[in-house]
Amino acid sequence: MASEFDLIRRHFQAHGPQRPDVPLGIGDDCALLAVPAGHQLAVSLDLLVSGVHFFADAAPEALGHKALAVNLSDLAAAGAEPAWVTLGLTLPEADEGWLEGFCRGFFALAARFGVQLVGGDTTRGPLTLAVQAHGFVPAGAALLRSGARPGDLVCVTGTPGEAGAGLALKLGRLALADATAAARLIDRLERPSPRVAQGLDLRGLASSCIDVSDGLAQDLGHILAASGVGATLELGRLPCSPALAACGEAAAWRFALGGGDDYELLFTLPPARLEALRTRAAGWDCGVTVIGAIEAEAGLRLLRPDASSYFLERGGYDHFG
Ligand code: ADP
Ligand code: MG
Repeated sequence: MASEFDLIRRHFQAHGPQRPDVPLGIGDDCALLAVPAGHQLAVSLDLLVSGVHFFADAAPEALGHKALAVNLSDLAAAGAEPAWVTLGLTLPEADEGWLEGFCRGFFALAARFGVQLVGGDTTRGPLTLAVQAHGFVPAGAALLRSGARPGDLVCVTGTPGEAGAGLALKLGRLALADATAAARLIDRLERPSPRVAQGLDLRGLASSCIDVSDGLAQDLGHILAASGVGATLELGRLPCSPALAACGEAAAWRFALGGGDDYELLFTLPPARLEALRTRAAGWDCGVTVIGAIEAEAGLRLLRPDASSYFLERGGYDHFG
C-alpha cells in the first residue's frame, strides 16, 4: 500500500498555489500556517459521500471542483478570505486516471482563489471526500447567521434553483426540450461558483449571511432561528434565469425554495445600506436580488405575486429526515 500512497502524495504535493504564509506544507506530521496579525481563522469542513452527495460514476474533474467549491462557499458566507485547505480522501482503489481528473478540477479552482493544499489523509474504502477550508477574517468582522433584524431586506446572489433543477434532470424527474437550458442547469449542479468576492464585499454591509446549500427556505430558516426573527419572501421577486424559466414558474419556485446545492449567498441588509450594496455589487457577475424582508413575527411567510399565501410541500434536504 505504501507505493499507492506515495502515488497519491505525488498527485497532491507541491501542486497548485504555494503561499508565503505556509512555512511548512505537505510532507511532515503537521502543516505550519501563519495567520495574519489581527485576524481570526475561519474553519469549515464538508464531507461528500458517493451515492449521497454525488453519483458514484460522477466525472472526477467535476468532483474535484465541487469538493473544494462547497468549502470555499462556507468561507464566503462568513466573509472570510480563503487561504488553505486540507483533503481527506477515502478511495476504493488508487486509480491514477481518476486522481488526475480529480486534481485537475480541484487545483484549477484552488488556483482561481489562491488557495494552497497543505495536508490531508488518504485511506482505502468507499469513495468519500472531506475538505477542510481555512480562511481569515479581521477579528470581529465575520458574517454570522445571527445578526438579522426586523426591517432588514432579504437578498440573494445569482439564480438559486438552477442546481436543484439540474439534479431533477439527472434523476429523470424533469425533462426539458431546450438542450442549452438543460446543460446550463446541470453545469450549475456540478460546477457551483463559490461567491468568495461577494462574501468579502458583504463585510460591513450584511447583518447576517449564509450560503444556500439546502434550498432558500431551509437556509433562510437557519438565519431566522439564529437571529430570533421571521420573514416574508415574495416569490415574484425570485431571480429567474432563462434556464430556470424553461422549467416553468411553479417548478422554478420549488427548485429555488426547496432544491439544494446552489451555493449562492443569502443575506440580510439594513435598508439604509442598499445604495452601498448596489455600488459594490456593480462589479459582481452573478447579480443580487432583494427577495423579501425580515419581520419581528417568527416564521417564514411566502407570498405569490397576487399576495396570496404559498405553501412549500417539502423543505430542504435533511440527511436524517
Ligand atoms: P501521517 O501518517 O503522519 O498522517 P501520511 O502518510 O498520512 O502521514 O501523510 C504524509 C503527508 O502527506 C502529510 O503531510 C499529509 O498531510 C499528506 N497527505 C496525505 N494524504 C493527503 C491528501 N489526500 N491530500 C493532501 N495531503 C495529504
Ligand atoms: Mg495520515
